[in-house]
Amino acid sequence: QLQVLEVVVFSAPSYACQRRTTLDNHNAILTDALSLLAENAELSGEDGRGVAFRRAAGVLKGLPEPVTAVTQLVGLPCLGGHSLRVVKDILENGASCEVEDTKQSERFKVLKVLTGIFGVGVKTAERWIQEGIRGLQQLQDSGRTLNRAQQAGLQHYEDLNQHVTRSEADAVAAVVEEAVASVLPGARMTLIGGFRRGKLTGHDVDFLITHPEEGREVGLMPKVVSWLESQGFLLYQKTTKNSYLEGEDGPARPSSNMDRFERCFSIFKLTEEVNGEGLKPWRAVRVDLVVSPISQFAFALLGWTGSKLFERELRRWAGHKKAMSLSSHALYDNTQRRYLRASSEEEIFAHLGLEYIPPSERNA
Ligand code: ATP
Ligand code: MN
Ligand code: MN
Repeated sequence: QLQVLEVVVFSAPSYACQRRTTLDNHNAILTDALSLLAENAELSGEDGRGVAFRRAAGVLKGLPEPVTAVTQLVGLPCLGGHSLRVVKDILENGASCEVEDTKQSERFKVLKVLTGIFGVGVKTAERWIQEGIRGLQQLQDSGRTLNRAQQAGLQHYEDLNQHVTRSEADAVAAVVEEAVASVLPGARMTLIGGFRRGKLTGHDVDFLITHPEEGREVGLMPKVVSWLESQGFLLYQKTTKNSYLEGEDGPARPSSNMDRFERCFSIFKLTEEVNGEGLKPWRAVRVDLVVSPISQFAFALLGWTGSKLFERELRRWAGHKKAMSLSSHALYDNTQRRYLRASSEEEIFAHLGLEYIPPSERNA
């Protein structure tokens, strides 16, 4: 007797910002593999290949059920020959040689350890490897001069490489809330980054601060930082001033994706509930603070909520499909030669001709 097997053939629009991607990933084995290859490419300075793997993983993250055969993927965008080969290997053999070899490779392992130090990027790690450094102890013993960030990173290495939980994020939020309220009553603080997308853990906690009256936010960051410092909450901080000038070097010039808000990269000393004796009563947690004027708040909120791929795709969509330049500060229409105002994320999606995607569905 002939049995007809129904096989779902998936389809999806090509930009991640057109898709709803929740945290409910039915293909984690595949997307973990592709993400690892993306990471390896990024660690090797091959950013283009990294993006290609991230896009492929992004498409698979959004599928409604597990993939069982590559034939289901024929109509999907962003899945190049290389990614498809990896998927095929995993579906047919349970693993991909390329992924397993990469995982085991000495170079990848060492690069991961060294770039796992806060303040150490690929270039620095690369240089150290060339100088014969293979691990943390060796780095410490070598007497290399480390900058302030790297010193703090090395000192708190273990804490900073242990993920932050939602309840720790809430504890940090309570502290930041108090700091903000103390130095500028009426100022508002919003949780951004992965936790705003509903993630249960993160590598850091991100906050956006603003004031409903334009201009009142000026000079806010140093005050917040002083308050936190005086209360003993900061193990490390580096504050960068706001350098955004509309029109001069704003979104009309789509250069880097770094924005120009006043921001603070910090390491918090977070006091934990301690039950047993001899336990460390606190732990180090990475915290990012960003201040935006209310007029740019919606753009900052959208730009700092992520995911990184979702953000990249929003900007690509804006440029390629709409002839617009999107940044965390503004949206510029290159055809009309004017900035498009928005006071909510919904308005920005509307300007871009996109269906609104809430934060919990931006997990591409
Ligand atoms: P995780 O849980 O690992 O922290 P995350 O999504 O919160 O994940 P982050 O690295 O904290 O990742 O970044 C949060 C968001 O802020 C991302 O969308 C990213 O694009 C944006 N972002 C981070 N750094 C910058 C920067 N220097 N300039 C502009 N945007 C940035
Ligand atoms: Mn984050
Ligand atoms: Mn961050």
